This record gives sequence, structure tokens and C-alpha cells, in this order.
Amino acid sequence: MSKPLPVFEEWPLRIPRFAKDAEKAKQWTAALKEAPTGEEAFKIWKKMSRLEESVLDEATHIQVLYSIDTRKEEYKKANDACNEGLPRFDAESVEFQRALLASPHRAYLEKKLGSFYFQKAEVSIQSFDSRIVEEVVEENKLMSEYGALIASISISFQGETYNHTQMQKFLESPDRALRKAASEAYYSYMEGIADQLEDIFDKLVKVRTKMAKKMGYDSYTPLGYLRMQRYDYTPEMVKEYREKIHEVVTPIAEKIKRAQFARNKIRSPKVYDMALTFPEGNPLPKGSTEDKVKAAEKMYDELSPETSYYFRDMVDHHLLDLDAKPGKESGGYMTNFSKEKVPFIFSNFNGTSGDVDVLTHEFGHSFQFYMARSIKVPENRMPTSESCEIDSMSMEFFAEPWMNLFFDEPDRYRYTHLAEAIVFLPYGATVDEFQHWVYANPEATPEERDAEWHSLEEKYTPYKIRCYKGCAYMEKGRRWLTQAHIFENPFYYIDYTLAQVVAFEFFNLDRKNHELAWKRYVKLCKMGGRYPFLTLLKKDHMKSPFDEGTLQKSIRPLLKQLRSYKID
Ligand code: ZN
Repeated sequence: MSKPLPVFEEWPLRIPRFAKDAEKAKQWTAALKEAPTGEEAFKIWKKMSRLEESVLDEATHIQVLYSIDTRKEEYKKANDACNEGLPRFDAESVEFQRALLASPHRAYLEKKLGSFYFQKAEVSIQSFDSRIVEEVVEENKLMSEYGALIASISISFQGETYNHTQMQKFLESPDRALRKAASEAYYSYMEGIADQLEDIFDKLVKVRTKMAKKMGYDSYTPLGYLRMQRYDYTPEMVKEYREKIHEVVTPIAEKIKRAQFARNKIRSPKVYDMALTFPEGNPLPKGSTEDKVKAAEKMYDELSPETSYYFRDMVDHHLLDLDAKPGKESGGYMTNFSKEKVPFIFSNFNGTSGDVDVLTHEFGHSFQFYMARSIKVPENRMPTSESCEIDSMSMEFFAEPWMNLFFDEPDRYRYTHLAEAIVFLPYGATVDEFQHWVYANPEATPEERDAEWHSLEEKYTPYKIRCYKGCAYMEKGRRWLTQAHIFENPFYYIDYTLAQVVAFEFFNLDRKNHELAWKRYVKLCKMGGRYPFLTLLKKDHMKSPFDEGTLQKSIRPLLKQLRSYKID
């Protein structure tokens, strides 16, 4: 019997010995090349896989600790060591993959590991090798610099200081004068660090372009697609899909926004009016963080035996770090530990309804991991990111019947959640088109980038532009500077929109036939990363967002649903 897992705080911090581990990986690669039989080759693969798991788990542990407190010297040092050492180890990993692809025992290994595994190996050798280690080290450093700069945001407001996430609450206040004052404090602070942010991004674009050239690509875009492990769709398909969002969703989003301003009796909306959904204030979740976790326990107890067991497992092992704190990185994420076979949730609760979104979203990711954790090949547990986001975004909708546990006026939350999910699509398309432009024009100046962002906002979200008057930061086109994915996960954004459309399909099905919707959802989670995105959808009888008509068909029932909520 294995030892019980200690609570998260008791896990010892270990910095991987990257040089030694890279040497070991080199030995396994040599041994694989010499393996006399398929069986022997598979044994060597197993050893390599265990080595990769332990290096990755230790590095993940460090990244989690650092993101929770970027100010702590011990974590910063360990994180720096990972930024530097991990790409060097990865370079050896890629050499192992190369040997695997060339192995005379490939047929035997494919039977053991699955043919998709080999497709993934192919992509990993096309997207990374020892030629670009220095550039990846540099990229890691710049991304950490960005994370730390955003985490260090501390805005003086009404005698207190607040970080990026904590300011949100004031920006949503029903008191317009308070919103205005908060917005002025926020944007004047952001103006102060904008040049630094632009500078970090400029360096990122340059270093990414350099690595693409070294790997033999014309620009970063094809390399970016490979790094995102996109197997079954292309930039052209994505472009067409973005245009569909523009055509179908932008006018609907415009209507939703207009209705919001009318409800709030705001004639000429400003940037500080955008986040307020109801005149009395946005629906706020009840109680403390502990209360929210208790409510989630009850919800997951009732949803299914599996959700009950696994949510409690996370709570029992302290695998959630939920509250916003000084020095903490912004945003929310779920990550996992392959050897311990547990996920971890990181978020920044700030007392808004976003707390509930993030809890259900990240638990959706966690649930998928639990469902697939017994798949023997670690690489086949987690699907690619757009598929991962289906699991999380659909969980947000499966949770809707329990929103009375979190809100006094649950329909107001449901309305806000659904309306925002629709309005999100044109924003997601903006972020994606922006990135395609950025990497097609790597020599553009920061001013040109901002101008491009501004013109894309005009295209996809014209209703926002009208609110920007009087806010120099937004008028300049700088909203993207706080969109972390643009810095830290290039091209990871259209994924959310693709997943959102599938999640809408789950939501529509859930209201018609909960049992069937849940069954399909669990099946999708269990398939893990055994197949690429479009194959997963097909096997689960779900429609592809790229297909003609999918977008319209998913959205139509939602408009009726929006009208059904009791919000007055
Ligand atoms: Zn997610």
C-alpha cells in the first residue's frame, strides 16, 4: 500500500537536478537506439517516462509555489532554476522522442502507446530542439518578468492598497462615482507601467520570431500552432471561424450590452460602466471563501458520486489556493501532479461572482484529470487545451442548478454568466486575430500594435469603443496588456471560444436531457488526451464549432434562455 498523500503545504520543495537528469535522459536515448526487442524498448520508454514525470512534477510544484507568492526569495530562486534548467532537460526529452520515432520497434511501441502518441512526438520534434534552448530560456525569463510585474500591481485607493484583481470589485460597484474614482486610480497606475509591459512583449515577439526562424519557419505562427499541439485545424480554418463570430455574435453581443446600459439607465456609458450588470449591483456570492467551498461541496455531492468524491479529495489535501493575496500572480489555473495523480487549483477570489465562475471552471479541469488519471501513458491523460476548456466551461453550466447555494438571486447570476459567455466570443476573436497580426508583423512598434488592437476592437466589439472616450489608456488600444495569455501562452485563446461553443451545446442538451448530457460529458473527460480535438468531438457525438451552422444553432436557444431568467 502506498503512503497517504500529505496536505499540500507539507510537500517538500525539491529543485530538480536538471543537468544530472538530462544526462540520464541521454543514456535512455542511447539505450533505446540499441534496444534489441520491442519489449526492451518499451521498458526503456517506461523508465524515461518516470524520469520525465518526476522532473515535471517537481518543476510544477515550484511554479505553483512561486505563483502563490512571487515575493518569496526561496521560490523565486527555485523558479529561476526551472526557467533555466527545464528547457535543457526538454531538449534531451525531444532527442528521446526522435529516437522513438526512428525505432525499428515502432510498430510494437505504437501498439503499446497508441498512434496519437507518435503524432504528438512528431509535433514535439518539429517544435523544439537544442537549437532554440537559449531562446526558450529567454522567453521563460520574460514571461516570469511579466507575471511578477502584474503581481506587483498595488493601487492606492481610498486609503488602502489593492492588487489587480482586488480592484475589480470597485469597478463593478453600483455607485457610479466610486466606479469612476476606482477606474481613474486603476488606469493611471496602468499608464505608469504600460511602457514596461510593452517592452517585455516586444522582446517576447522578437525572441519567438528568432526561434521560429532557427527551426526553419517563416514566422512564429506555424511554430506557435505546433507548440499548441494543433493537429486537426489550421490558421485558415481559424480565420474563417473568427469571421463567423464577427458575423453572428457581434450583433448579439451589441444587443446584450445595449440592454445592460438601458437597464442601468446610463445614457452615455463610460469605461467604468462596462462591468456593472444590474443597477442594484452585480450578483455577489454569499459568505466567505470557506462558505463557498462548503456550498461547492454540497453541490458536487448532489451532482454525482464522482464529483463529490473528487472535490472532497482536493479540499482534504489542501489542493486549492483560492484567495487573492499580495504578491500572488493574477488569474486562475488548474495544474496537475502526474505521479501523485492529483490536480491543483489556483485562483484569486475577490468577492465577485467571478469567484464562483473560477471555482466551477477550474474544478471542471480537475474533474477531467481525475477521470483520466488512470490512463497509463501520462501524455494521454490531458487533451489539448481547447478540449480541456470544454471540460471546464461545460462544468460552469452543469453547476447552474445549484447557484441558489451561492447567490441570493441566482437567476441574476445565471443571466450574467450566460450573457458574458456570449459576449466573450467576439473578445476571444479579437485576442486571436491580434496575435496573428503581431507575429506576421514582428517588427511593428508598440504604437502600431496598440493601434492594431484598437482597430480589431472596432471590428469585433464596437460597443466597447464608444465607452472608451475619456480613458486615454483604452483609447490608445492598451487593453491587451493585461491579457496574460498574449504574453504567456501565445495563440492560446481561440481555444476558449471553440470550447465555449461546445459548452453551449452541452448546456442546451443538459436542459433537454440531463442524463445524456452528463454521460457524454463524463465520456469526454475519460477519453483524456487519447485523440485530437475534432476526433474527440466526433467520438462524443458533439458538433465541431468550425462546421457551418454550429455557431448559430448553439446560440439560438441561449437567447430564449436569457429571456427566461427572472432578473427584474
Ligand atoms: Zn480553463
